Parts: sequence; C-alpha cells; structure tokens
Amino acid sequence: MRVISSPHEVQRQCLAWREQGRSIGFVPTMGALHAGHASLIERSARENAETIVSVFVNPLQFGANEDLAAYPRTFEDDRRLCEERGATLLWTPTPAEMYPPGFQTQVSVPEVAAPLCGVSRPVHFGGVATVVLKLLLVAQANRAYFGLKDYQQCMVLSRMVADLCVPTELVLCPTVREPDGLAMSSRNRYLTAQERQLAAEFPRVLRECWHELHSGVTPAECLPRAANCLSVAGFRVDYLELRHGETLAPLSTFTHPAVLAAAVYLGKARLIDNLSSVADRLTRTA
Ligand code: AMP
Repeated sequence: MRVISSPHEVQRQCLAWREQGRSIGFVPTMGALHAGHASLIERSARENAETIVSVFVNPLQFGANEDLAAYPRTFEDDRRLCEERGATLLWTPTPAEMYPPGFQTQVSVPEVAAPLCGVSRPVHFGGVATVVLKLLLVAQANRAYFGLKDYQQCMVLSRMVADLCVPTELVLCPTVREPDGLAMSSRNRYLTAQERQLAAEFPRVLRECWHELHSGVTPAECLPRAANCLSVAGFRVDYLELRHGETLAPLSTFTHPAVLAAAVYLGKARLIDNLSSVADRLTRTA
C-alpha cells in the first residue's frame, strides 16, 4: 500500500489506473478508523482492482465551537487497518494541500442540508459537499463507499452527484454496530465508561419507535414518546424525526421511503443514529 499526501500525485496515479482499465473504489474518512470504516474498505477491495482510503479531518465541516482540535488522530493504527483490509493507496492530504491560499469554491445542497443535523450544524454539510466533490475529482473512482450511519450525509452527496453528473457511483453501506447496538463512531471514544453503558439505550429506543411505526402507531404518538424516553434516561435530545427517505422533507404519516433519524448529546459526545427503508432493504437482500 502506498501512502501519498499530495492531491496532484494521487490524481496522476488514479488517472493512470483508469487508463490501464483498473477499476477504483474510494473510501473517504476522517481517520480514527474502526470496524465501520473497515467494512467499507473490505467491500471496496472486493469490488474494485484498486482501493483508495483518504484520511482527512476536514476543517470546513466543523463549526467554530465544535471538536476539530480534539478530533482523534490515530495515524499508525489507521495505516495498519487500511493495509490489512486491502487498501492499495492511503491518501493523507494536509489542510494546506486541500485548501491552498485563495481557495474559495463552495458546494451547497441547501434543501437536503437544512433539516436534522443542519439545524444545529449550519456549516457542516456545505463543508462535507465541498470536500467530497474535491476528493471525488482527485480520486477518479468508479465507486465511492459511504456509511448509512451518516444518513443525511448520504442524501446530500447523492443529490450532489445526481445534480452535477459526477461520474462516480455512490455505494451506501449498512451501519456497523457494537454488540449492544450502539452505532460505531470515532466519537464514541469521548464517552466515559458510565456514559458508554447508557449509550446503548439510544439505538434501543429508536428500534422500538421504528417497530411501532411499522405496526401502525402514528408518528404523532410514538415520536414524542421516544424523545421523552431518551430525556428521562439522561440524554439531551437534539432532534428525533421521521422524514422522507430521499428528500428529507417532513413526513406526518409513515410511508416509504422513510428515515427515522435522531441526534442526542451524552456528556461530551454528540451521537447520531437512524433507521430507514434503505437500510431495511439492504438487510433483506443481504
Ligand atoms: P468518518 O470518518 O466518520 O467521516 O466516516 C467515514 C465513512 O465511514 C462515512 O461514509 C461514514 O458514514 C462511514 N461510517 C462511520 N461509522 C460507520 C459505521 N458505524 N458503520 C458504517 N459506516 C460508518
């Protein structure tokens, strides 16, 4: 596995691979890699001749009072995991390489980015869309792999790729969970041992609410109950909402495609999770 920092050098390598007819899979990450990331890398390695993993903690997608400086950086472990799971190129650009002096281009996907996490993180998805478009242009990948754990991110990027005719297929992959159901996240390491134990309540309450919706309980009845359950357990609920599975427009009745998405604060961590028609379909066909 080669390790390259320069975007231009990565792009040269990728253009050469495409000319040789070698398919490229791409897994963009912010590092501090865990089994969730590993599942994307392994899938890419199965489906493509070359697999690029990028590790870049993107300053553009962090708000002023968010955890950019504290975000975990574990390069040696990340390098080992990428190599073991079949990556052939690890791309580790610096902020100065990604955003050289004079950089000013911004990508915005305003409607999909506005609700849910967009309310408390107003600059987040603009930063994500901008960096991912640049990463995709450099990587020249046939396929790029994203986790449904970041559901709104998947929908923002799907909209962007469709709108701009980006010639990379987005492959949306199921959320990998800890044995107790907590979605794996680099930010789980912010939790104390006690908070970590409580954290499993979050996916449990979401699952219960999703089952109730399937069995005909109205959103007006079961959403406030689930939010209250989380508050009583000790979480601070940012949002818990039922939305259209692609546009993320509000849904007052349960129709498909749908997503039940939530964000909660627990100690220093902000946790997100969701259940969706898209994920259910992946489970059924697995
Ligand atoms: P991040 O490093 O958090 O930006 O995540 C990089 C990619 O890994 C994104 O596409 C995430 O959605 C995906 N990812 C993160 N956690 C998980 C997980 N638990 N299961 C599946 N994919 C994940």
